[in-house]
Amino acid sequence: MLEEVAKRLKEAKKAVALTGAGISKESGIPTFRGANGLWKKFKPEELATPWAFQRDPKLVWEWYLWRRSLVIDKEPNEGHFLLARLETMVPEFWVITQNIDGLHAQAGSKNIIELHGNIWRERCSSCGFKRVNRSDRMEELPPRCPECGALLRPDVVWFGEALSPDALDAAIHHSETCDVMLVIGTSAVVQPAASLPLMAKNAGVFVVEVNPERTPISDMCDVSLRMGAVEFAQALQRYL
Ligand code: NAD
Ligand code: ZN
Repeated sequence: MLEEVAKRLKEAKKAVALTGAGISKESGIPTFRGANGLWKKFKPEELATPWAFQRDPKLVWEWYLWRRSLVIDKEPNEGHFLLARLETMVPEFWVITQNIDGLHAQAGSKNIIELHGNIWRERCSSCGFKRVNRSDRMEELPPRCPECGALLRPDVVWFGEALSPDALDAAIHHSETCDVMLVIGTSAVVQPAASLPLMAKNAGVFVVEVNPERTPISDMCDVSLRMGAVEFAQALQRYL
């Protein structure tokens, strides 16, 4: 199986990796469904929404600062490094990620589409102001825009919000025009990212899933490997 996957990657003119929270788990960042997925008594679905922010921006910011504290000292793992290496091997390679932790860039990947934004970026809820703030502390909560005084919010996509059309269009385009797609560490339930493997499959792409657990897309994939991202990276390296 792995030999076949390696062969496909070596022959590919273009390949894509679609990643989710699972690829960062072995870096020590909990997935939403993991044991550390809960903060205080809240579920992510109750905090990562525009309505929660409207009701209680301080609470939502406290949660994001907690999530930043889980990420700030973490390093990419061999799964992230494998994808950075593939970008140097395959003529065209894209990482499409649902993660907001920034670890793909830290690992050296350049062609990255961050479908759900980035936890270190902040943007004004009113004007166009944006900034990167790599800190898990804030003097003023909730923070205010230095340009117009309105509330700053995390530059991430919340439940109930649309993805950036440009990011989504690019993700669909690359998914449908690649030769191989690796789907690593996503539960394949959060839309619209979960439909990218289906679009790829319909376009004739060779789709490989890497996940310790079965998911709704497992049966549809050409290869579905029950293993973690690090184990996959280590095993695949031998054939590359
Ligand atoms: P999810 O939490 O719903 O699912 C994670 C998946 O990873 C599961 O299917 C699980 O079986 C799998 N997994 C567990 N350990 C793994 C390993 N070692 N290697 C590979 N896979 C492993 O995550 P999701 O599908 O990404 O969707 C949840 C949403 O929450 C997304 O928007 C996601 O990006 C966001 N989120 C992001 C982070 C992050 O940025 N690191 C963390 C938590 C949640
Ligand atoms: Zn502003």
